Amino acid sequence: MRITAIKLDRLVRSLDPPFPAAWDPVPRTTFAATLVRVETDEGLVGVGSGDTMDGFEAYVDLFVGRDPLAVARHVRTLETITFHGGRYWPLEAALWDILGQVTGQPVSVLFGGSASSLPAYASTGEFVSPAERAERAIAVREMGFRALKIRIAADRLAEGIEAVAATRRAVGDSMAILVDLNQGWRMPGDIAPALDVAAVRSVAERLRELDVLWLEEPLPSADVAGHRSLRMQTGIRVAGGEMVRTFAELVAALDGDAYDVLQPDVVLAVGMLRARTIAELALARNHWFTPHTWTNGIGVLANLHVAAGVGGGPFIEYPFDPPGWTPDRRDFMLAEPVCVDADGMLRVPDRPGLGAIVDEQAVRRYAA
Ligand SMILES: [Mg+2]
Repeated sequence: MRITAIKLDRLVRSLDPPFPAAWDPVPRTTFAATLVRVETDEGLVGVGSGDTMDGFEAYVDLFVGRDPLAVARHVRTLETITFHGGRYWPLEAALWDILGQVTGQPVSVLFGGSASSLPAYASTGEFVSPAERAERAIAVREMGFRALKIRIAADRLAEGIEAVAATRRAVGDSMAILVDLNQGWRMPGDIAPALDVAAVRSVAERLRELDVLWLEEPLPSADVAGHRSLRMQTGIRVAGGEMVRTFAELVAALDGDAYDVLQPDVVLAVGMLRARTIAELALARNHWFTPHTWTNGIGVLANLHVAAGVGGGPFIEYPFDPPGWTPDRRDFMLAEPVCVDADGMLRVPDRPGLGAIVDEQAVRRYAA
């Protein structure tokens, strides 16, 4: 089989009302998604999405004419591109989609087939008042979720801790609560200093008392020793690694004992094949692998397949914070949004490949 073309569909949907993502200084008025479609001479088409793929056109010739099933070769090629350019991992997702179609299996089976569904956590994205956050937590629990993640703003730590405390009072022990400080994240232009280590330690101690399951990105990603010290000093589980650019960074984090929870997003960080290796290494050390998934439904599915394949953690991230962030907004390019069932489980589609069905009308309507 040969790759005959790689096509990119750039889509933009307006968000009215806007979505005030906690990690973004300005509310989002649009949501962009790029579909990567790999076409083959046998008529199979694989689809991936997640990164914007800006600039990828310059590298298409490195793949066209090659066997789409030679995934390891393509992963190594993508790593050489990442050294210079963007995060083009949605291409790898599209290749696995083809592999699944060729074998007639969901991609999760090709990654080990550990589970056919995983418990999802509602990953929230807005800063809202403690009372509002607690109210929303009860609403998502009633939808079936057994876990949720709350963002705490670096410049509003006390309010964030109060939101966690209010949520704990509201849900008791019926939900796991995760907290994200997003210190591994930088929007372009944000050169403000990271959180002070002493402040982070006192936040972690308070969150430990509130029985928070894990604290995510409390420090900049490069601070391997700092993450390890925080774990040892406070006893809280620490999560990270969602946006690293290299496999070596994750290996260094593992070797340095930085995290209890490894979170590389398979369409943004190091791809699916490398994420599986990290997941296996994490599991061998009694750590968890549960990837970041905050892109769109196709990105959620790619991460779900790897996580369900290796079976690496208690929950999988499900970006969900109604009314601002809903499956309808997130998955506007899909014929069926990726949904969680009444028991809070995210089921692996039983179709061959990734199982994403693109809504071609939406692709035309939202073409950028
Ligand atoms: Mg995060």
